[in-house]
Amino acid sequence: YVPRAERERLLGVWAQLLSGEHQVMDKPVFGVPRPDGQVEMVEANVSLDIMRPDYIVMSLRDVSDRIRAEGDVKRAQERFRAAFHSAPTGMALALAESGDLIEVNEGLATMLRCTPDDLVGRTLADITHPDDADDIHGFLGGLAALGGTRSAQRRYVRSDGTVLWGATSVSVMRDPSGEPMVIVHVLDVTQQMVAAEQLSWSATHDPVTGLSNRSHFLERLDQALRVHDGRDVAVLFLDLDRFKVVNDSLGHATGDDLLRTMAVRLVESVRDDDLVARFGGDEFTVLLTDAPLEVARAVADRVRTALSLPVPLDDAEMGVTASIGLAFAGGAGVSADDMVRDADAAMYRAKDQGRDRIEVFSPETHALALRALHTGNELRQGLDRGEIVPYFQPIVDLRTGRLSGYEVMARWLHPERGLLLPGEFLAVAEDRGLISDLGSSILRSSLAQFAQWMSRPGSIGPLTLSVNVSARQLNDKHLVDTVSEALAEAGVDADCLWLEITESALMTDVRTATTALRDLRSLGLHLAVDDFGTGYSSLTYLKRFPVEAIKVDRSFVSGLGLDTEDSTIVEAVVRLGSSLGLVTVAEGVETPLQLARLREIDCQLAQGYLFGRPRPADLLEPFIQVS
Ligand code: C2E
Ligand code: CA
Ligand code: CA
Repeated sequence: YVPRAERERLLGVWAQLLSGEHQVMDKPVFGVPRPDGQVEMVEANVSLDIMRPDYIVMSLRDVSDRIRAEGDVKRAQERFRAAFHSAPTGMALALAESGDLIEVNEGLATMLRCTPDDLVGRTLADITHPDDADDIHGFLGGLAALGGTRSAQRRYVRSDGTVLWGATSVSVMRDPSGEPMVIVHVLDVTQQMVAAEQLSWSATHDPVTGLSNRSHFLERLDQALRVHDGRDVAVLFLDLDRFKVVNDSLGHATGDDLLRTMAVRLVESVRDDDLVARFGGDEFTVLLTDAPLEVARAVADRVRTALSLPVPLDDAEMGVTASIGLAFAGGAGVSADDMVRDADAAMYRAKDQGRDRIEVFSPETHALALRALHTGNELRQGLDRGEIVPYFQPIVDLRTGRLSGYEVMARWLHPERGLLLPGEFLAVAEDRGLISDLGSSILRSSLAQFAQWMSRPGSIGPLTLSVNVSARQLNDKHLVDTVSEALAEAGVDADCLWLEITESALMTDVRTATTALRDLRSLGLHLAVDDFGTGYSSLTYLKRFPVEAIKVDRSFVSGLGLDTEDSTIVEAVVRLGSSLGLVTVAEGVETPLQLARLREIDCQLAQGYLFGRPRPADLLEPFIQVS
């Protein structure tokens, strides 16, 4: 019965007994086939008969059940190990007390970017992120005694130092010796957590500049007002001047770059604990705390200076400025919305006042802002009704003393408010996108008027007409067509027409300006730089543009003959002009003294109240003589 191998073992036992040993522990187990074909497992216990030492007793015990059960356990263990190691989740077996890792599966090792062997022998604390490691005992604590399962989102550190977010659950179990162990399950939720973090970041931040957004700003402002009881809390509201021009002409990528540059400058010119936000489009806000009015004003000034530095572009520079409104919470009871509204109103006032400046909110600011808003709404209507009309100011030739031409100044004959000057409606027109309509309306009506004068018998011969063109118009693709159509419609020779473009408009976007000016020039008209001396004057730029005249700003002319510095500047500009072959025009000539000085330095043309104020066509005397 006994198979060969077991027979050897049996005989071996037998031999040991015969050689004098009393008991042999080896108990061979072998299968004994039953008559029905099944095999029973039997265990043979062989010993000497104590009573009759020359006998050997062999008792056989049926151990089939035991053997089967042992096999089951072994298979179960193998299945468990296979499941443990091939599980898609991370698993580890650790001692409950010390957190020593006893076994770690592939899943967890892969998540931590290492092998199970790297981890066995280390502790749970070793692989946990420092911020979560402190409470590791809290996390495991009591589990051994109380049992059950505990779950939490915990961070681990991968072998490369990066962070793994794991949805972790631990349950307690006992190993066969009764030692409490924990089995740890980890599910990698890093992507979800990162997405959630990004979600909360993007809910409070602007993706272009990385600054806080509007809602975050309002929330923080509200907080600051409550914490400080409204004391020494200030809000700056900034709007970039003519940003739309840059954005439309150079494209959104450049626009975004510019916004980022401005964001960096803003952040750098305030303290770390001041909050800078992008409020919308080209609007930024700054929250200042512990800032009495004078401090807030100083900060606003610093910001304005920082933003107005030229921004280098690929092959040119761009000058961008900001209009800044400042609102100051003098005490409790001011809401965040109120403060932002006031700062915004002050900013509008700054724009109205000529941009690139700071206005502090005061109650009348609000009224003025309301009026600007109202003005914007009325302007469209005013244009349609022909309320915007040209006034004409004479320009005289200083050598001959004769009339050289007229400059056209827009006026709004407002039905209720009376005569309005450009300062009261031009900025609004630019902001509302009405400036091109306004410009072409002024151009048409003034050219029509000019044509009529020129056709009058006995007129004094060739005159010029100078029309102002704003930065935004310069950027309008249709400008060249509009101008050539207006000339054709009026039947005026292009050679009579001068277009005046302010220096700052040219500097806002040198590249666009260059092309636009070339196209205009090719119509046969002439170009002048207006307000010369007030922007970033640079000889290189002057040479680059096809301009033929420079108009010296009134601010320099006013000191002529009195203020030596002004005199020097005007003289230098006139000399610069003639060395470049440009005509020089002095603006704002009001006194005979100024006139005398201009003649001395050989300035060619001049205009100002001394020769005549801007007047409507029907009040004009086109034959002017200067003595
Ligand atoms: P600007 O082109 O520098 O025009 C000269 C301004 O100085 C005019 O102001 C004129 O009335 C004023 N002025 C002329 N002579 C004297 C003087 O002797 N003393 C003083 N104190 N002022 C004098 P205004 O009419 O208020 O125009 C302001 C600005 O508005 C103009 O400055 C020009 O840049 C702009 N503007 C006027 N009309 C138009 C227009 O039709 N289109 C565009 N885009 N801008 C215009
Ligand atoms: Ca002008
Ligand atoms: Ca001017």
